[in-house]
Amino acid sequence: MVDFSNITKNSIEEAIKEFDSLGEDSFYSLYGFFKEKKYSLLYNNKTYPSKAILGIAYGFENNTKPLSPNDFSGGMSGKNTAASVLDRLGFEIIELGKPQKGASRGNLERNIFGEIPGVKVGQLFKDRKELSEHRVHTPTMAGISGSQDIGAYSIVLSGGYEDDIDELDYILYTGHGGQDNPGGKQVKDQEFLRGNKALTLNIQQNLPVRVIRGHQVEYGPQNGYRYDGLYYVKNYQKTKGKSGYYVFRFELVSSQAYENIVNTIENTFKDEYEVPERVSSTSDKIKRNQSIVKKVKELHNFTCQVCGEFFQGVGDPICIAAHIKPLGRMHNGPDVIENLLCLCPNHHDLFDRFGFFIDENLNIMQLNQELPKNPSKKLITNKKHMINPEFLNYHKTQYLIVN
Ligand SMILES: [Zn+2]
Repeated sequence: MVDFSNITKNSIEEAIKEFDSLGEDSFYSLYGFFKEKKYSLLYNNKTYPSKAILGIAYGFENNTKPLSPNDFSGGMSGKNTAASVLDRLGFEIIELGKPQKGASRGNLERNIFGEIPGVKVGQLFKDRKELSEHRVHTPTMAGISGSQDIGAYSIVLSGGYEDDIDELDYILYTGHGGQDNPGGKQVKDQEFLRGNKALTLNIQQNLPVRVIRGHQVEYGPQNGYRYDGLYYVKNYQKTKGKSGYYVFRFELVSSQAYENIVNTIENTFKDEYEVPERVSSTSDKIKRNQSIVKKVKELHNFTCQVCGEFFQGVGDPICIAAHIKPLGRMHNGPDVIENLLCLCPNHHDLFDRFGFFIDENLNIMQLNQELPKNPSKKLITNKKHMINPEFLNYHKTQYLIVN
C-alpha cells in the first residue's frame, strides 16, 4: 500500500501549479489520470482532481515517478484514499451530491452540486418553497442559486426572460438582472456579477447545474415545478437582447440523451403541448475536422503562436488547435483553418476565456496588463497559414464585452 504519511502541503501545491501550467487536458494525458467524477479539491476558488493531484504530489515529495491511478484509491473511505489524505492536510474537498463544508450553519446541508440524494429526475414540486425544502433549489425568489466564488448549484426556468431558448436538452438561459421588477421588462444592461459570474465558474470547473422547469414555460409541468436533471454550462456570451439591452446568455447542455429526457418527463407535459421534434444536435456533438487540426500544428512546428514555446509530451508535443470564433451554436464559428490558432495549453485556456485578444495588426492585447512571456507582443505567424481578420475581430468584440 502506498504510504502518504510524509506528504506535505507544499508538494500538493506544487502539483496544483503543475495542473495550472499544463492545463487540464494535457495534465491528464501526460500523467495518465482520468477526469475526476466525484471528489474535487477546492483551491483558490478553483477545483482540481483530488486523486490525480495526490498522485503527482507523491512524485514531487519523494523525488520519484508520480503514482498512476491503479496504485491507490480515490475517494473518502479509508485513511489512505486520495480525498481523505487531502482532507487531513487541511484542503477543502467538494463531493458532488454532498453538502459543502464551510457553509454557514443555516446553509449547512443546503449547498450541493449535482444530484440531491433521494430526488429523482422528473420529480414534481408544488411550489418554490417545496423545491427549497428539498434543497433542489434553495432560494425561493432568485432564478440562479449559487455564489460568484464557487459556482451555480441550480437554476429555475420560469419564463421571466424573453431571450431564453429551450429545446429540452439544450437551453440558452438568460442571466439575471436589468429588469424593472422580477420577471418584468428589461430596462438596463445585465452585469457580470453574482449568478451570472457563478455560471461561468461552472464552465471553468466543469460543475453540473440542476435545472428546474416551472409551469410558466412551454416544456414545464402542468402545475408547480419539475426537476429535470443535471446540465453542463458550455459557453456564455454577452449579447444584445430583444429589448436592446445587453444580457448574458449561457448555453446549457443536458447530461442525458434527448430521448431519455423525453421518456422521463413527457407524462408531466401540459396537455396542449406535443413532445417537441428534435431540433438539432448540440454543440457537444460537433465533429472537428482532424486534418486541419494536424495541419495548423505542423505549420507552426507545434509551438505556441503567442509565446513561441514548445512542450514535449510523453508521446506527441502538447499544443492545441484553438478556434478563434468558437464552434457551437452560440458563437457559430466555422471549422476552417483560417479560424484556427496553434496555442500552448495556457494560452489556449486564456484565449478561450477571453483573457486576451489579437488586434488587426496581430498585436497580442490585454486592456489592463501585459501578457507575460511575450516580448514581441505580436502573434507569431506563418505565411502559409492565413488567418481571417473577421474572426479575430469577433473574438475581440467578445473580449471587450466581458472585460
Ligand atoms: Zn503559449
